[in-house]
Amino acid sequence: MDFEFTKEQEALREEFDEFFRKEMKHAPKEWAEGGLEAMYHTDEGFAFHDQMKKKLGKKGWLSRAWPKEYGGQDAPLIEQLIFNEVHAFHRAPGVDNFGVGMFAPTLMVGGTEEQKKRLLPPIARGEVQYCQGWSEPDAGSDLANLSTQAVREGDYYIVNGQKTWTTGGHRADHMFLLARTDPNSTRSRGLSIFNVKMDLPGIEVRPILYMDKGHITNDVYFKDVKIHASELVGKENEGWELTRQTMNFERSGVAGFVEGKRTIAELIDYAKAHKRNGKKISEDPVTRQKIAKLFIGLEVGQTLAYRINWEQQKGGLIFAASAASESKVFGSELSQQVANVSTEVLGMYGQLENSKWAPMDGKAATHYQFCVAANIFAGSSEVQRNLIAWVGLGLPRTK
Ligand SMILES: Cc1cc2nc3c(=O)[nH]c(=O)nc-3n(C[C@H](O)[C@H](O)[C@H](O)COP(=O)(O)OP(=O)(O)OC[C@H]3O[C@@H](n4cnc5c(N)ncnc54)[C@H](O)[C@@H]3O)c2cc1C
Repeated sequence: MDFEFTKEQEALREEFDEFFRKEMKHAPKEWAEGGLEAMYHTDEGFAFHDQMKKKLGKKGWLSRAWPKEYGGQDAPLIEQLIFNEVHAFHRAPGVDNFGVGMFAPTLMVGGTEEQKKRLLPPIARGEVQYCQGWSEPDAGSDLANLSTQAVREGDYYIVNGQKTWTTGGHRADHMFLLARTDPNSTRSRGLSIFNVKMDLPGIEVRPILYMDKGHITNDVYFKDVKIHASELVGKENEGWELTRQTMNFERSGVAGFVEGKRTIAELIDYAKAHKRNGKKISEDPVTRQKIAKLFIGLEVGQTLAYRINWEQQKGGLIFAASAASESKVFGSELSQQVANVSTEVLGMYGQLENSKWAPMDGKAATHYQFCVAANIFAGSSEVQRNLIAWVGLGLPRTK
């Protein structure tokens, strides 16, 4: 198998690389530690993301692989993957994963022509910011148990209920919402998807703060919120099938593996430059074994992501749930191993954030605290393994 990129693709990679190298020099200090906290917690962090998003939108880089009529350039999907790799390597902001990565491809699969023409171009231009309104206090892994109601009254749906864990809900101007439109339905039947403006009367966003007081996630309450019927995405009561596609878009991607490789490169630099017990850390046999093992995992993960990209290129945007789940479970657990090994290699210094003594700008400590959530959000590891067993391997479905 030939994994070489063409000369044109390499030139494109250079162009992306040069752009981010220049732009990241202007990153505010909170961006040095990276992660979702840098993007959502402070006004300065979010403003940097927002202006980068608009720059990327202007260049057409958020939507290269989309059809021209919806704001794209009809480019092959591999070009979007190259962009995603370079963007992740620079730990750069500017990509709204909920809008660009999840809702836009969902619209392309299941939106009406009118919705695609109205909703996709602003996402491509980087003008909007989305959040994901799925989870509820009694519906996480068991999402089909959700109880937020959207009742049709004339030209509107009246929405009542609560969403929880809504990442970036306090920064978003739009949400893609999953709600029950058939009040007599149970489980996955009777659910529908809506495009919701977050400034509608009756929507209230309340923070859920992290252990370190970081503001990333939220509770979102709906009280008699009027959503116009034209915002129903796909068919009424048939939102579950489309939502399963959105899950696949959420669970796949190359970014985490590339970012992991950058962390490994930084760890290697640190290990070469520092001593422990009178010996270079890079000469410690156990540390070497651990770093090499992580690198093998990251190579495997990157190859999984390439496979998904290739499958998508062949078959449009729809692909097997099992491949997306493989990538999700493998990537999130590997990211936890990267965090563990990083703090081991950095020793006591690896626990520092916001300090001149913190190696790697404190990224290791930030990542170590955040990665606990990695095997929960976007579907827990247990749920992914169940899906691989059932959908991928044909084992009986568990209730
Ligand atoms: C940081 C973070 C950000 C998030 N962002 C968003 C967001 O933006 N939008 C959104 O809608 N949601 C978001 N979520 C919610 C996330 O999708 C849910 O937390 C996740 O799906 C798990 O649901 P739960 O928390 O209700 O746990 P539960 O579903 O109650 O699971 C509890 C435990 O039981 C296990 N379990 C459950 N069912 C099974 C089963 N059938 N077999 C084996 N084990 C099982 C799970 O693996 C888990 O270990 C976020 C969560 C976190 C932590």
